[in-house]
Amino acid sequence: MSTMQYSFRLTLNDEQDTQNLAKTLSKCFTEGVIYLIGDLGAGKTTFTRYLLQALGHQGAVKSPTYTLVEPYKIKQKDIFHFDLYRLNDPYELELMGIRDYLDVPNALFLFEWPSKGGDDIPDANIVIQIEKSEDDVQRFITFSLENAALYECLKEKL
Ligand code: ADP
Ligand code: MG
Repeated sequence: MSTMQYSFRLTLNDEQDTQNLAKTLSKCFTEGVIYLIGDLGAGKTTFTRYLLQALGHQGAVKSPTYTLVEPYKIKQKDIFHFDLYRLNDPYELELMGIRDYLDVPNALFLFEWPSKGGDDIPDANIVIQIEKSEDDVQRFITFSLENAALYECLKEKL
């Protein structure tokens, strides 16, 4: 994460802004690894829900807090939404067969609480940090990423 070349901050005033940001991201990035970092209630799952919807998902998006992962297949594309909050030991990831998930080609991986995953989870292409305002209305977002083309794509659209 410390080697990420590009970073920028955004203020989201409401959920509509969050949805718009997710839509923009869906046009620039559809495979690889996203880390979502922030306190409980920051909006990691909400952002994921809007991103999945922007990619064409129509059903519910459950928080995978108890299952660790929730798989999606959206327009032939595999998407895995992980929430490692309840992970006690990264070894549990081996037991749940994380390697099989990570071997899926061209997939998109979202990780909430990646810090709990230890070395078993892949490095991020994008790190999204979300902070709440005092009054819990706004969200302050920091994107960090390493790919110049992705940075240009986002910058052009935001
Ligand atoms: P996390 O997954 O980070 O624990 P959730 O996404 O489950 O957080 O919860 C975020 C809560 O904050 C939701 O109830 C959501 O409706 C609310 N919220 C309010 N404003 C925003 C916003 N701008 N973006 C995302 N969520 C928001
Ligand atoms: Mg969550």
